[in-house]
Amino acid sequence: MIYSVIVDISNSQVDRVFDYTSDDQLEVGQRVEVQFAHRKVEGFVVDCKETTDCPPEKLKSISKCLDEFTVFDEKMLKLGRYMCQKYHLRLIDVLRLFLPPQMRGNRVRVLSRKQATISSQCPLTLEEMLEKCSRAPKQQQLLTYIAQHGATLSAQLSEQFGASALKSLVEKGLVSEQEIVVKRTPYSGVSGTDTRHSLTQSQQNVVNSIMSEPGQKFLLHGVTGSGKTEVYMNVIEQVVNSGKTCIMLVPEISLTPNMLRLFRNRFGDCVAILHSGLSAGERFDEWMRLREGEARIAIGARSAIFAPLDNIGIVIIDEEHDSSYISDFNPRYNTIDVAKYRCSQYNSTLVLGSATPSLESFLAAQRGQLKLLSLPERINHRPLPTVEIADMAMERRSGNKGLFSDLLKQRMTETLEKGNQVILFLNRRGYSSFLMCTKCGYVARCADCDVTLTVHREDNELKCHYCHKRYRMLTQCPECGSSAFRQGKMGTQQVVELLNAMYPDVKVLRMDADTTQNKESHVKILTAFANQQAQILVGTQMIAKGHDFPNVTLVGILDGDQSLYYSDYLATERTFQLLTQVAGRSGRDTQAGRVVLQTYTPTHYCLQLAAKQDYLGFYKREINLREASLFPPFSTIVRVLYSGENEKDCIKQLTIHYNGINDLKEQYDTDFLYLDKMRCPLKRAEKKYRFQILMKLSVDKTDEILQKLYDVTDKSDVKGVTVFVERNPQNLS
Ligand code: ADP
Ligand code: ZN
Ligand code: ZN
Repeated sequence: MIYSVIVDISNSQVDRVFDYTSDDQLEVGQRVEVQFAHRKVEGFVVDCKETTDCPPEKLKSISKCLDEFTVFDEKMLKLGRYMCQKYHLRLIDVLRLFLPPQMRGNRVRVLSRKQATISSQCPLTLEEMLEKCSRAPKQQQLLTYIAQHGATLSAQLSEQFGASALKSLVEKGLVSEQEIVVKRTPYSGVSGTDTRHSLTQSQQNVVNSIMSEPGQKFLLHGVTGSGKTEVYMNVIEQVVNSGKTCIMLVPEISLTPNMLRLFRNRFGDCVAILHSGLSAGERFDEWMRLREGEARIAIGARSAIFAPLDNIGIVIIDEEHDSSYISDFNPRYNTIDVAKYRCSQYNSTLVLGSATPSLESFLAAQRGQLKLLSLPERINHRPLPTVEIADMAMERRSGNKGLFSDLLKQRMTETLEKGNQVILFLNRRGYSSFLMCTKCGYVARCADCDVTLTVHREDNELKCHYCHKRYRMLTQCPECGSSAFRQGKMGTQQVVELLNAMYPDVKVLRMDADTTQNKESHVKILTAFANQQAQILVGTQMIAKGHDFPNVTLVGILDGDQSLYYSDYLATERTFQLLTQVAGRSGRDTQAGRVVLQTYTPTHYCLQLAAKQDYLGFYKREINLREASLFPPFSTIVRVLYSGENEKDCIKQLTIHYNGINDLKEQYDTDFLYLDKMRCPLKRAEKKYRFQILMKLSVDKTDEILQKLYDVTDKSDVKGVTVFVERNPQNLS
């Protein structure tokens, strides 16, 4: 047989298929080792056929087959080809997404352990055996133990009875050892008993609608705390019972121990977790359990959409608006598109769920492309939290220069006195690196806006991210004349320090990128907070989603408008989503919740509507703005990003492409709503200069134009310049 193999070479432009021969019976999706350009490389079989155009003297044979199983099937390969076409990707980059990364290069193995049992070959009875080792009490104890307990891991027996006892028994032929495969279990400490709620009428209606139309695409709009998770679990249970499999996606950071516990408790070993935080071995074992059908529910972040499952009944994407569903590095893809394609292959149901659906999804629902389901109320009519807005500009004018408004301080004290818990949220999407006098504590602020100025080291200036005014870098403190400055981030650490000073007896936990370097710390912090080992949790984006802490009755948002200051068409939508999500952490159980939202722009419609948690109001307002200004979803934004260490080379490459794109514009004049070239707002990153070509295209012609655009941007004329085409990029920095 002839096998077409795509070779797995990193960082190379080789994305071609080569033919090899083999006497073995191989299948599409098998990993093989082949000779390629005088070295041995890994590859995947993508086709099996009778003939080849390759001349017989050149045809090499496959060196060896790397696994006894396939890593993808024909349907996955089709999905891969679809993604290549849609996003202009290399097939090899896409195929790599389909298997645990460490499998490549054989960096992960099945874990096997020896176990010992009474030898089945041995004709003696237990008494006779015990007789045979009458002078070795340890051996007798060991024999008795495995006679009672059955097969036991050799390591355990050696520890309990001594390695020599086990060894002698094996030598005497009384005990035999076998290698068995053991599966590593991620977060094995996370378990408990299932608490099954009987569904409320609204939950039941939603479940019924989903189950009554297999193959339909739904958008579930349910306010925070409306019981969406219970709906998902109910639907998944029915689908699994009907013999099909399920994929449940959550944003990376909301795959919390609590979420896992819920699923483990209900579905046990039928659930497998796919998550980048797992160890190589755990990830491989979970993947294998899905591959072998031992687990039939895959739960995980973005990449779990590629779970090795067959006969998929349903795909659920929770918090569907979350930007982590759009991969912003190679290979770039949109998980919702991929999910739609996978669903079409099995006629599976798709459920997108969110308290704050993306404008795009909600518009699709309005247009009937998604079927809208809603859970407009919290469980048992619990009220949504009361949101109070603290006007920080006013606080400043009345002399409060601190991080906390008087209102927030008052609410915190009340809450702590009642024995309830507080979450303080710091919006670090707009990172703020400020300048502070170490002698008197003066912090540089904008004269016009009273917002902390951000240090821009590259230009040696201070900028107001609110009004964009620029200031020269300070060399002397205007208050005390000192020249000792500290440049820092208004970060969670400082908030914790302040809290410690204000409430010396209160225990505070911090959760951000610094405190969650390893995967276990994430779990530890959340578990400690859930067990009420601390009264206050301070954190960034990580604490915004998916958590359900019944005792939290106050959420403080320290810098509610930070992310509004981005000159990005998505800024308002993002801010609204974030604020609603964070606010939704408050008062989820029987006790009413409060939120204090600190802002310098208390009258901005985004904050006003977020305070009322009025999604529909926000949707209407924002969608009209987008339509009027022709921003997505009423157009497609395409960015071609150039980066390289040599500034001139970047400009040179950009200019050549720009001319090509201009020619395209002439052909498609009315479909080019905008075209320009410029430096990126983030001018230089990791030593590389950054430039971009931006265009706005009509939605109808986007695919057609992009295919031609790729012909232009694929041509590399200048070495050392990386070119990336992004469709509706999630950020334009
Ligand atoms: P969402 O995902 O919509 O924010 P959750 O699924 O986390 O909401 O549910 C919010 C809270 O309500 C959880 O504590 C959950 O255990 C509880 N809950 C869900 N469904 C029910 C029900 N049918 N009866 C009682 N409590 C429920
Ligand atoms: Zn300003
Ligand atoms: Zn000073």
